[in-house]
Amino acid sequence: MNAFSYVIAKDVDSALRAGRVPGARYLGGGTNLLDLMKGGVERPLRLVDVSRLPLADITALPEGGLRIGAAVKNSDAATHPLVRSRYPLLAEALLAGASPQLRNMATVGGNLLQRTRCHYFYDTAFPACNKRKPGSGCAALEGHNRMHAILGASPACIAVHPSDMAVALAALDALVRVRGAKGERTIRALDFHRLPGDTPQRDTNLEHGELITAVDLPPSGFARNSHYLKVRDRASYAFALVSVAAALELQNGVIQDARLALGGVAHKPWRALQAEKMLAGARLEKAALQSAAAAAVEGAQAHRGNAFKVELAKRAIVRAVLAAGGVA
Ligand code: SF4
Repeated sequence: MNAFSYVIAKDVDSALRAGRVPGARYLGGGTNLLDLMKGGVERPLRLVDVSRLPLADITALPEGGLRIGAAVKNSDAATHPLVRSRYPLLAEALLAGASPQLRNMATVGGNLLQRTRCHYFYDTAFPACNKRKPGSGCAALEGHNRMHAILGASPACIAVHPSDMAVALAALDALVRVRGAKGERTIRALDFHRLPGDTPQRDTNLEHGELITAVDLPPSGFARNSHYLKVRDRASYAFALVSVAAALELQNGVIQDARLALGGVAHKPWRALQAEKMLAGARLEKAALQSAAAAAVEGAQAHRGNAFKVELAKRAIVRAVLAAGGVA
């Protein structure tokens, strides 16, 4: 591990001042960043500890939504009565992630900023990783790519984003609130993470020094009809092969509005907008759902080890939508 300075931020303004220095990184629960530092993947020059900032509240918004502070622990968000009752999709996704011990440490802001679990990214013995070392190549293209992307990838990187929470936030159309040198702004959760293109070293659209302060959930949480389905190699403490956040507005068995976001398939949570359009007006019947599921993975590009994900994603979508509708 390289030498670095450590600053405990007492308020947001001092955190921003400390965080805009080149080489500075914010430290929340540390569940991912510290591992990356120990492995020599991340080498910050300064850690700005933001875990003590007054950003750990969950508050109802006057217009009907909910604000979750960036420093709220994943376990606290998942078990909060307002999250459970109004946004069960988010609670399910949070509880599907990591382990109880990690959820007790990890924060909402940090969850959004966690990095891919591509083995080649973590193991510095492999020289080729464009995300770790831009221009070095991508070892996963011809290597072990069972966990990798089938949608939105590029020749530079086929990694996937590992967060379950972010998939639910994309489906719910949440907003990420950030503060930086230029003031405050909001970024749609759907636009927060990036596709790799030729700059896979950038995971998000945050500028250097910007700090996530909260996540805002809109008034509608699809509380009556939603489901988060995570398909993985073991029942706990495993990243998704494919996950699906499905949310429906139903009337007399007919879908009025649908939200569908996939995890484990792309460099960012993948919103299946065409499939959502096809589901609007459809009955909860397998044939209609299968057509929408096929549209959701249209253009998928598999690699040697992950071709199974295309069919798995289609089946998971059908299962998740049926479960959201109370059929399965
Ligand atoms: Fe690196 Fe991305 Fe290739 Fe993995 S998939 S080796 S993270 S460039």
